[in-house]
Amino acid sequence: MTLTCTTCPYCGVGCGVLAGADGTIKGDPAHPANFGRLCSKGSALGETIGLEGRLLYPKIMGQRACWNDALDLVARKFSNAVRDFGPDSVAFYGSGQLLTEDYYVANKLMKGYIGSANIDTNSRLCMASSVAGHKRAFGTDTVPGTYEDLEEADLIVLVGSNLAWCHPVLYQRIAAAKAARPTMRVVNIDPRITATSDLADLHLQIKADGDVALFNGLLTYLADAKKLDASYIEEHVNGCAEAIAAARHSEGSDTGLTDATLQQFYQMWAGTDKVVTVYSQGVNQSTSGTDKVNAIINCHLATGRIGKPGMGPFSATGQPNAMGGREVGGLANMLAAHLDIENTEHRDALQAAWNSPTMCTTAGLKAVDLFKACADGHIKALWIMSTNPAVSLPDADGVADAISNVPFTVVSDIMAQTDSGDCATILLPAAGWGEKSGTVTNSERRVSRQRAFLPVPGEARPDWQIISQVAQRMGFDGFNYDNPEAIFKEYAGLTALSQQFGKDLDLTGLVDADYDTLAPTQWPVGGTDRFFAKGGFYHADGKAKMLPLTAPVLEQGTFRLNTGRIRDQWHTMTRTGKSAKLGAHLAEPYVEIHPTDAADLGIGPAELIRIDNKGIFRALISDKVAPRTLFAPLHWTRQNSSSGTVNSAVTVGADPFSGQPALKSADVTAAKFNALWYGFAVSANSMQPTRPYHAIAKTATGWQAECAGMKTPNEWEAEARSITGTVTGDAAILHDATTGQTRVAIIENDRITALFFASPTPVVVARPHAAALIGQEVSSLNALAGRAAADQPDPGPTVCACFQVGANTLRDAVVGGATTVEALGEATCAGTNCGSCKPELAALISQLQLPVAAE
Ligand code: SF4
Repeated sequence: MTLTCTTCPYCGVGCGVLAGADGTIKGDPAHPANFGRLCSKGSALGETIGLEGRLLYPKIMGQRACWNDALDLVARKFSNAVRDFGPDSVAFYGSGQLLTEDYYVANKLMKGYIGSANIDTNSRLCMASSVAGHKRAFGTDTVPGTYEDLEEADLIVLVGSNLAWCHPVLYQRIAAAKAARPTMRVVNIDPRITATSDLADLHLQIKADGDVALFNGLLTYLADAKKLDASYIEEHVNGCAEAIAAARHSEGSDTGLTDATLQQFYQMWAGTDKVVTVYSQGVNQSTSGTDKVNAIINCHLATGRIGKPGMGPFSATGQPNAMGGREVGGLANMLAAHLDIENTEHRDALQAAWNSPTMCTTAGLKAVDLFKACADGHIKALWIMSTNPAVSLPDADGVADAISNVPFTVVSDIMAQTDSGDCATILLPAAGWGEKSGTVTNSERRVSRQRAFLPVPGEARPDWQIISQVAQRMGFDGFNYDNPEAIFKEYAGLTALSQQFGKDLDLTGLVDADYDTLAPTQWPVGGTDRFFAKGGFYHADGKAKMLPLTAPVLEQGTFRLNTGRIRDQWHTMTRTGKSAKLGAHLAEPYVEIHPTDAADLGIGPAELIRIDNKGIFRALISDKVAPRTLFAPLHWTRQNSSSGTVNSAVTVGADPFSGQPALKSADVTAAKFNALWYGFAVSANSMQPTRPYHAIAKTATGWQAECAGMKTPNEWEAEARSITGTVTGDAAILHDATTGQTRVAIIENDRITALFFASPTPVVVARPHAAALIGQEVSSLNALAGRAAADQPDPGPTVCACFQVGANTLRDAVVGGATTVEALGEATCAGTNCGSCKPELAALISQLQLPVAAE
């Protein structure tokens, strides 16, 4: 099988992948982001490339249409809206999943031809605060460092970043470096104890949004301890004295940490030259997100610890092409090539380069305001590309209504049914990962090729082509591209403007490069791989700015809801949801709640919790979250759960500088959801149980469903058939009057096609075992036992997704003497492929009260 060199479509680490049309997936040993490693999501890419659920042809109002009709209609509706209501009556909402070429063409169309800057993307939810912080400090949106700096550092400080689950290969690189050089220390700063804490020498369980106070405190400590780099400041930095003076006003601000802990952290930071501070969504998704970024950068500027090997602030971008989007101006307040929208010379130069008829003159609507404008009726035509705002934005139900309120909405996507697509007028089938070609830029400014290795299915087309064809139908020249290479070369050439205006971005060295064989390349192409070691900032005087910052007053509502990602799912699960392996890790929407809060609310283990009357979730009782705080993953949608779309319950403000919504700080109420019965089902058929609580997930043999009801069914067999989608076959029923438990097996042609378990309390069943019985010739009574027979091992809930190793298997191995992560790997294979589960293996060993031996 010929393998194609391409790039993973998930997180901002940007791992190189070798992929084959038969679903073969390997880490690319030559790619400098991962050197052959892949995480669980990357490893399972081969399971997600099937055509199940794909949108394969255009649809207008739910009816199949031809491309000509669809493109004509889109062009006409957008043109009419611009003619009748002006350029700002239309909007695009894109995605960090788009390739740079797609992004570039969409921006060119909206900003240079339609003449509005109403193009924003889900990158607004991801790293807009980092962009704003970089621009305030450096004069440009520059990530100064590289991944190698993380390996070379003597101290890595992780802030608001569950790297082990959200950037797993970067986490693995740090873990490997620490294992090779045990003097390296890691501090994890997070209101939650996470899988990443496993690697940390010190965990600071900071109060949510206590970061500005923490780093202001560090700055004053550095000043008092005479650890500032006076000559670096003198030559390269403005605003240091003002920043320190402002930081002193923060003294005593609430971080939730003891003085002793603060001193320990401050001493560690002050006493170590090679410090890298890595930050992501816990910093960015906040009403003080930009200030948090600058509070971190202030400390690095004041000590000159920036741009040198093993030193610097480092923003880990969430999405595969968040950085590429930023380069081509993929946010409503930016222009391509890092040019500034508010600068007339920049706008004129870009318009001349594009030879375009018009140019936006002011910033457009940022994501939250864009959908408010949809709700208010100001937007007459909207195009959503490769993203699912009806799930991912705060007030998700309100956003779904807002999309429905727009007279004409286009959704271009790979999937036929998404929560946002369900609100659209017209659906356009986009080519997916493996089917299209282009480039992405990862967190360390490295441009890599995504290459096609699969045929484009049905009538799908790449996004750049769809956008260009609409632009041509709107009467615009400048979109006659034959392929993504032509777009890339135009864009790379355009970065000469960045140089002309003294900016950082430079891809001009790639204009003549061979696009087909383009190797992963960091920008500035042919220049330094690190910025700012000797100053050279991009403010007019060439100096950086330290910002005077005030720590916010921290308020605590009834419960503070934090949202985030889990290890084995990506965004709204349109792709990772297809993988049974990935679904086995955490298969339903849940809320982590502290034991004292659960007790106060009368919620027992595995019972259900209701958030703000908007969502129902499985309660995961855990002291890893602080009292009166909750954590919920963002991935579940209305397609796979009754009410697991957590952002429906999230109504929050946004950062005043970046416009990034504070998705980790919703004030919510919580209460027990009083189910009368709980159910669990597995079936060979797809299921849509539609009960007060339900969540479905793919299994290796079909589907599984968790459900709960408020009314006892009249007849359990009918309930079982309805939930499992099983009409035919014989039913065997077991009812225990003492416990109230009911079990139903549906058998057809001597094989089990569905199993259903119901109970007045949360169902206790060996779920992987039950799923494995579907399609098997097993006696119905054995199947109804809900657990493996004594002579058959029950692996328990899946921990290692790659090798499907369950918790029971691991427990047995630990008890049998495998008391290191390495030994567990040798005994069970767990953790020996992608390594994403290693933190959980270590946690399991320590739960069993056994010391984790050094490896
Ligand atoms: Fe993909 Fe995982 Fe690498 Fe991120 S860390 S790019 S999800 S393989």
